[in-house]
Amino acid sequence: MKFIRFIAENKEHTGIINKNNVINPLNQDYFKYDTDLLNIDYEKEVNKNKNYNFKDIKIIEPIKPSKIVCVGLNYIEHGEELEMELPDEPKLFLKPSTTIIGQEEKIDYPSMTKQVDYEGELAIIIGKKCKDIEVENSKDYIFGYTILNDVTARDLQSKDEQWTRAKSFDTFCPLGPLINTKLNPKNLNIKTEVNGLIKQDSNTSKMIFDVYELLSFISKIMTLNSGDIIATGTPKGVGPLSIGDTVEITIEDIGTLKNSI
Ligand code: MG
Repeated sequence: MKFIRFIAENKEHTGIINKNNVINPLNQDYFKYDTDLLNIDYEKEVNKNKNYNFKDIKIIEPIKPSKIVCVGLNYIEHGEELEMELPDEPKLFLKPSTTIIGQEEKIDYPSMTKQVDYEGELAIIIGKKCKDIEVENSKDYIFGYTILNDVTARDLQSKDEQWTRAKSFDTFCPLGPLINTKLNPKNLNIKTEVNGLIKQDSNTSKMIFDVYELLSFISKIMTLNSGDIIATGTPKGVGPLSIGDTVEITIEDIGTLKNSI
């Protein structure tokens, strides 16, 4: 199933994209912090008498997480381009939920930095609260997948020992446009374009730690709430954005996340 959040008739909705590429809203906007997303009967909750066309809505962020857990250096070739040693365990950091923006919203260029980079990534959406999950059970806690741009002030990342400042400016986490609950996360093409030029072109099969290993590892540190996001790292080809640029990240079976700076 493909889920989307949007504004129509001055109200926020969660909806399901049906076979005709038309959106049917759910009776409630469930995709807020800490709803058990895997325990909702969506067939019952969807209002099939109400249809919205894409041209009549504004897409907004597909989920409101309590936290975004990010993985650094999870593609071998990206580690090589940053000249960083490859990790033997996932390297983690957090982005605050206040960084999130939706489809076609603008990324700020803060005055504190002189280099703002894009990082195209596959994002996992947690489906129910979990802790201490083994790899073989990870699948049972995943609701679906979306696209995330882990925007980074690269100069500040190099300068600060901690990455918090470089990763946490408001608008530094474009997310969306939709959540797909049915796909194989281990073999998806992922591509980033800036002003139409291809900058990143890879496949999620090239991850060092796959999505199930990441969920298990993180859950042994912290409780993951329903709706939380795991950003699974970026492939090689990261680079800077200039004011006015448009960045588009495309992941197979999800779509294209588009933002300008
Ligand atoms: Mg990243």
